[in-house]
Amino acid sequence: MTARRSRPRSILASVLAVVLLAGVAGAVSADSTFVPSGVTFKVDDAARTITVTAKLAFYNRSCTPGASCAVPAADISRITRAIESMWNNGSKVRCYTLIVKVEARAVASQAEAGQTEVDIGLDYGPITIRAFVHGQHAGSAPPDHLSNSPEQRVEAAHDPAAPTTWPSQTYDRTYAHEFGHILGLDDNYDTSRPGFPLPGASDDLMFRKQGEVTNEMATRVVERSGKVDVKKLKCGWFTEGTQEKKWVGKHCDEADADWTINAEVSTAGLRTTELYTAVIDPKTHKGTYSYESIGEIAGGTYTQNGKGVVTTAEQSDGTLLMSLSEILVRGVITAGGTTQSVTAPIPATAFTWKPAATAECP
Ligand SMILES: [Zn+2]
Repeated sequence: MTARRSRPRSILASVLAVVLLAGVAGAVSADSTFVPSGVTFKVDDAARTITVTAKLAFYNRSCTPGASCAVPAADISRITRAIESMWNNGSKVRCYTLIVKVEARAVASQAEAGQTEVDIGLDYGPITIRAFVHGQHAGSAPPDHLSNSPEQRVEAAHDPAAPTTWPSQTYDRTYAHEFGHILGLDDNYDTSRPGFPLPGASDDLMFRKQGEVTNEMATRVVERSGKVDVKKLKCGWFTEGTQEKKWVGKHCDEADADWTINAEVSTAGLRTTELYTAVIDPKTHKGTYSYESIGEIAGGTYTQNGKGVVTTAEQSDGTLLMSLSEILVRGVITAGGTTQSVTAPIPATAFTWKPAATAECP
């Protein structure tokens, strides 16, 4: 769960916060409130990974003033493992794998946590508290749990008056859920209707602790960060359509100059399989293509082939328009025991390529 300053906290969270503050009031330092920059993102195009590193500082909320009670290293590594094992499940942002790294250390008090780490008070009291992250939305827009806008990012705050607090012992999945808030995600459950998701929300780890980290969550984390332009991830291109012909094409390896499209033309008495292979210079966006087709006609077969000029141009909507110039193709028709050569023009044609998603380019 999260508790936010920008909207009323749940009654339970408010009660817990009051109880906690009453119990440890003397231990809270009078330092100021700020949003630490504890989460960083790194894109590796060659490996197709996005690594998110979160720096966490754990301290013991149950420590009485003057006592020495550091958070045991074993607790920190247990919580770190719980988070990393749940989050590193191969979830994808388009074709890139999200990798989560937790860099955690023990600090003596909340005030010792730095500007670049998220402070978390571990509670060692006899009654297990409910975990919560004190977060606030980065922007002032009305909260939208389905939005991937950076404005909707939840940011864990360093706040002496309302600290992020987790139980020292709880389900591994609870830590992984709370960590989702630190990465910027909202809860997907409806606080006014326990057990029900918010409208449009998925059944995932942000809905319930039995849920999993999903591609949707990974994508929301990365897009909300505002640090990575997901449209610019190098996932290749995909084209598919049905007009006079049904075609499909993939271009998954950005370093490869070859683009291929397979097409089928099916009409009464005619069935043709076509293959376009374009070789395009990535700098000039120009190249050549070859065309081959094999078809069946009544009582025979025919083959055709030809070459032409091709250009590509990126469109404002993020698609790529591939234009193939008019060419003459030479063909051979074999039917009824005779063979005949033909030459026929192929009209100019164009294919629209879209940025590939995981399904097209794994
Ligand atoms: Zn939550």
